[in-house]
Amino acid sequence: MKIGPKNGGFTVVTQSGERLEARAVVVATGATPQRIDAPGERRLVGRGLSYSAVSHAQLFIEKDAALFGCGGRALRAAAELARVAKRVHLLLPDQDEMRSPLGFKLRASPNLIVYRDVELCEIRGEQFVESVVVKSQGVTQEIAVDGLFIELGLTPNSQPVADLGVTESQGRIVIDCKCATSYPGLFAAGDVTDSFIEQVLICVGEGAKAALNAYDYLLSQ
Ligand SMILES: Cc1cc2nc3c(=O)[nH]c(=O)nc-3n(C[C@H](O)[C@H](O)[C@H](O)COP(=O)(O)OP(=O)(O)OC[C@H]3O[C@@H](n4cnc5c(N)ncnc54)[C@H](O)[C@@H]3O)c2cc1C
Repeated sequence: MKIGPKNGGFTVVTQSGERLEARAVVVATGATPQRIDAPGERRLVGRGLSYSAVSHAQLFIEKDAALFGCGGRALRAAAELARVAKRVHLLLPDQDEMRSPLGFKLRASPNLIVYRDVELCEIRGEQFVESVVVKSQGVTQEIAVDGLFIELGLTPNSQPVADLGVTESQGRIVIDCKCATSYPGLFAAGDVTDSFIEQVLICVGEGAKAALNAYDYLLSQ
């Protein structure tokens, strides 16, 4: 899909090649979790492999979980998991990830085991995740777990508006409290925006808000 300007409005070319014209557009194309394409990854999504600890940490009460990720997002996910899981294997791709206040707090968690410089080589399991194979500082080992979280962030699906100058450095569409972008008539909602929401209920509400404000915009034209 591509959205371009036309006579004060927009032309939308859909994936099937259909061409639409509109005076206002709401973009709600979501975001795609960053994958690592390790063996087993695609097969085990939703079978113990999740990309969102916020959504699924509660499924691992008193279970063993692994978490592969980096940055504040991974630490937040580790904190969420450590509250409920029996053991959390925190697999950090880099050496130095735990220097933030949350990182220092996590170091004291008795059920958190930290691995650094980790390469996630394989995710194993017949029906559900059973173990992860990791390589760290030259040593390869298999860790038995009930589930795995990959928390490397989301890539916003903002390519359709890439030429309209409405995205920030990470590609998220910047919106105001009315879901309006800086481009007149262009609105956006959900995970493609810089709202950082990642929850269905909030995305649905934001979509409704964007639609109402787009309607107001049309009335004012
Ligand atoms: C594995 C997983 C589990 C989750 N579990 C939960 C949960 O338990 N609870 C919860 O609240 N949230 C959960 N979330 C988060 C939730 O799904 C999202 O926050 C929410 O769906 C985002 O809504 P959205 O409308 O912004 O985007 P989406 O729901 O992702 O919808 C975007 C749509 O746009 C389409 N699209 C994308 N690019 C284009 C393009 N270029 N052209 C045309 N169409 C395009 C996509 O195909 C899709 O249909 C989960 C997310 C994932 C990935």
